[in-house]
Amino acid sequence: MNHPGENRVPTGSSRRILAFSAAFFILATLCSCDEGERQRADFVIGTVCTVKLVSGGDAGALDAVFSRLREIESEMSANKEGTFVDAINDAAGIKAVPAPADLRFVLAKALRYAEESGGAFDPTVGPLVRLWGIGTEGERVPADGEIAALLPLVGYRDVAVDDAAGTVFLARKGMRIDLGAIAKGYAADEAARILTERRVRSAIIDLGGNIKVLGRKSDGKDWRIGIQDPFNERGTTIATANVKGGTVVTSGVYERFFVADGVHYHHILDTATGKPVRNGLVSVTVVADVSIDADGLSTTLFALGYDRGSALAESMPGVCAMFVDEGKKVRLTPRARGVIVLTDPSFVLVD
Ligand code: ADP
Ligand code: MG
Repeated sequence: MNHPGENRVPTGSSRRILAFSAAFFILATLCSCDEGERQRADFVIGTVCTVKLVSGGDAGALDAVFSRLREIESEMSANKEGTFVDAINDAAGIKAVPAPADLRFVLAKALRYAEESGGAFDPTVGPLVRLWGIGTEGERVPADGEIAALLPLVGYRDVAVDDAAGTVFLARKGMRIDLGAIAKGYAADEAARILTERRVRSAIIDLGGNIKVLGRKSDGKDWRIGIQDPFNERGTTIATANVKGGTVVTSGVYERFFVADGVHYHHILDTATGKPVRNGLVSVTVVADVSIDADGLSTTLFALGYDRGSALAESMPGVCAMFVDEGKKVRLTPRARGVIVLTDPSFVLVD
């Protein structure tokens, strides 16, 4: 019999309990000094964002990244009330609106890609994005007259970013900016900056397929980043980008779309027609150093089409691009050869 306070040698079962408790204690201690949580996924900035710490850092680094992502969303979302972008849009044609430096930076980048593409990429595409509502409950094919009525509101030259005053002004009433084509790239750059500050040596940042890798892989080999198959479910890849670091971003017709009367309507709009871009492309992937550039460019190159898009990509140092068309033909810019490797033989590489 067991008496309280009695000094006894543990029996077989109590020894097992002791062993379990000891193992549990060691595990718990190990977990807390093994830097805790290494990967987190959350829905923010309109997509599933996953950050994986490969070496260095701790859960505090993940907290810092996700709170910055939420902050970016609360500043730059065009679909939420109360954001700076919302305030700028509401004041279009009326007055300049104070805007934080990071929003002005992202908008200025977007305006640069608008210049580079002669307006094929245009952050003032907002009225058309809202009209189509692709990816929202209100998505529908608008009447030609509705599109024609809004087309004159698209015009990046009528955006004034005033860094001295810290404001943004849209010159005409009804204009709306939409940073959906570029903000995720900026968010990935910010995530990488925060992780670096937090002494993370190596990490993978995946913001809804907008991927940025930080540092070196632990085995010193290149990162192999899968590129989505535009015709298949998510996670099926057709190629890999083999990179030491940097970012890989794809814009594609599969990302947000709806089908009406058998016609596929996707979310990258032609600023000349006001309708989804139809140029035979199904996706464009950009490999670059900086994610805001890769994101801005992937949409820009998609909107420009292969001929003008590949020429623009080649004119930019450090940029590689891959164009996939609806006939499963794949074209690489010269610099992309050796970086992007086709892995699915049902796609054909052409010159
Ligand atoms: P994803 O959101 O899939 O990463 P993109 O980066 O290619 O895709 O951006 C597409 C988004 O950009 C659209 O959902 C819309 O908000 C916006 N957009 C659509 N057409 C244009 C355009 N011609 N120029 C700039 N932005 C656009
Ligand atoms: Mg983009």
